[in-house]
Amino acid sequence: MQRLALSSSVFALLLLSTPALQADSAKPDSPSTAVAETHKEHEEHEEHGVHEHGVGTLSIAIADKVIEINLDSPAANVFGFEHKASSEADKKVVAEASATLEAGGNLFDFDKAAQCKFEKAELNTGQDELSEEEKAADKEPSTEENMGAEHLDVGVNWVFGCEQPASLKTITPKLFASFPAFERLEVEWVSDQGASAQTLEKDQAINLTP
Ligand SMILES: [Zn+2]
Repeated sequence: MQRLALSSSVFALLLLSTPALQADSAKPDSPSTAVAETHKEHEEHEEHGVHEHGVGTLSIAIADKVIEINLDSPAANVFGFEHKASSEADKKVVAEASATLEAGGNLFDFDKAAQCKFEKAELNTGQDELSEEEKAADKEPSTEENMGAEHLDVGVNWVFGCEQPASLKTITPKLFASFPAFERLEVEWVSDQGASAQTLEKDQAINLTP
């Protein structure tokens, strides 16, 4: 049997080829929070698929003893804002949220019998490079208009190793508890046993049985 290649491009292909997700992305936005209303250009910002505040995409790939989990989320869900952090207060928020995300072992519960251990995390905060132009723009007072123009996404890739993968029946994320701005997680998982999708609106078990 062909082994799954564990890379983001595989996830991207899987997601693109999933009719459920395509149908979902065509649905009108449901929750209208104050934050969402200041971001009227959402529909035009589609490079990463759906950028909807409150919503994150969790992609899980299970290949033998290796569990890889990807989170793709608007930065607002984890930092509370999407501009580049320039103030000390904003930088502190980014640093603390990044530390929480990188400590992946605290963000997911696995069936004990599967003996899973957190191995590593890769985090892309979208905060890295601040161009000269952006630095200059940062000095201007923020208006609703120029705040609304910025939409940053956060990407996290966690890798876990499980000694007894056959005993792994559920994975329970704790992202809602850690980041209350999440309203919905669109979850997709794939293993050599099958694949499925599930929508979470709170921290609850993802069923890995097809
Ligand atoms: Zn946004």
